[in-house]
Amino acid sequence: MVTSSDPLTVDCVCIGAGPAGSTTAALVAQHGWKTLLVERDPMPRFHVGESLMPETYWTLERLGVVDELRRRAFTRKQGVQFVTQQGKETRPFFFRQHDDRESSITWHVERADFDQMLFENAQRLGADCRDRTRVTDIHFGEPGEPHLLTLKPADGEPYEVRARVVVDATGQQAMIANRLGLRENYADLQKAAIWGYYRGGARMPDGEAELTTIMNTSDKDSWFWYIPMSGDTVSVGLVSDSDRMKRTRGTAEEIFQQELANCPVLQQRLEHAELVSELRVAKEFSYSTREHAGEGWVLVGDAYGFIDPIYSSGVYLALKSGELAADAIDEGFRSSDLSAGQLAKWCPDFEQGVDLIRRLVRAFYTRPFSFGGFMKEHPQHQSNLTDLLIGRVFGNEAGDIFDDMDPWIRQLLMSESVE
Ligand SMILES: Cc1cc2nc3c(=O)[nH]c(=O)nc-3n(C[C@H](O)[C@H](O)[C@H](O)COP(=O)(O)OP(=O)(O)OC[C@H]3O[C@@H](n4cnc5c(N)ncnc54)[C@H](O)[C@@H]3O)c2cc1C
Repeated sequence: MVTSSDPLTVDCVCIGAGPAGSTTAALVAQHGWKTLLVERDPMPRFHVGESLMPETYWTLERLGVVDELRRRAFTRKQGVQFVTQQGKETRPFFFRQHDDRESSITWHVERADFDQMLFENAQRLGADCRDRTRVTDIHFGEPGEPHLLTLKPADGEPYEVRARVVVDATGQQAMIANRLGLRENYADLQKAAIWGYYRGGARMPDGEAELTTIMNTSDKDSWFWYIPMSGDTVSVGLVSDSDRMKRTRGTAEEIFQQELANCPVLQQRLEHAELVSELRVAKEFSYSTREHAGEGWVLVGDAYGFIDPIYSSGVYLALKSGELAADAIDEGFRSSDLSAGQLAKWCPDFEQGVDLIRRLVRAFYTRPFSFGGFMKEHPQHQSNLTDLLIGRVFGNEAGDIFDDMDPWIRQLLMSESVE
């Protein structure tokens, strides 16, 4: 039963206080619109996804949180390294060698702290931020009419909110996309992940750059991430085909240990380490959405889509889509146009950038592919590749790399099938 006869009325409701929701809410509020940000969990709340891409810098700067990020003890991330299935550590991609601006050094963040910081920042910029409050229902209004949402606080009675614009930032819950049947899974990217946090794993010597390392297992059926975080903690995660994990009988711990036995480089790094958390599991997290906005609503972050964790692009795309959507919403309010066309104005360019990441993800999962092998034959693409790993995928030439990478992969596949 919904109490309160007079619904709260706002311009914009953002559902979900991950990076996407907090960014959208902060910037819509900063534009001067009455904004409500609702999060079902108590903040701070745990979340996976610690390794940032350097291009997050520009949205974080616009949000005004870069000084706060520097002040916090998050580990600085200076590059990405890949380890082949033969255990060979490839030359790291150091972002600063490519571009010496401060933005090239990014962070490995504890997501609970990072997301809390963005949530508080949305409040600072004028949004009404309510955690422990779940949106349980949305009744879409007729064109020109506000939408009606039902909110349920963890320890209170449900109440209603009227909003001209609803931003779905519910992450993998993808509330609106699921409700309207807009979600489309990538058949070839159905992966699962098992991860935990270690103390005492190998770190770079003092003063040397920390990296995100991606390690293939010896059969190349799976890979691990290795993300050194603050203190002595390292986030270590296994990613493999969902079907393969289902076929491998055993608990998450058993599967994780079996794959660890296939990854000697990681075993070495964890030789003196202790697992200090439970192992968590996520699966079938990769999907896109057929439409990204409608009359008075728009999708951002994972609710818009998620590709794969391999290049740590999730938080970046969440921040970026939040920023672009916020500006489209502001423009829509000013011009009294809250149509799908207006609210999704940014999506075609955004999709082009997302597509470059998606193509690089698919290249990684092509069995004979290796970055080392490709760079050896096409050293002229070092700069394009580093651009992609930095996240510079919007409106530049980094995509030219695929003119050579796609034929190169096709050739590898052909010579494999001949053998
Ligand atoms: C295994 C794995 C590893 C990853 N590693 C990385 C990485 O290293 N780097 C990286 O950048 N990204 C990584 N990601 C992706 C990253 O975690 C996400 O892309 C990112 O968190 C998306 O942010 P978001 O704001 O869209 O959603 P989220 O951060 O998921 O936030 C959504 C919020 O909505 C809330 N919510 C849901 N439903 C409701 C409701 N009905 N009412 C109110 N609130 C609601 C949720 O509680 C949640 O807090 C990884 C993902 C996976 C699966």
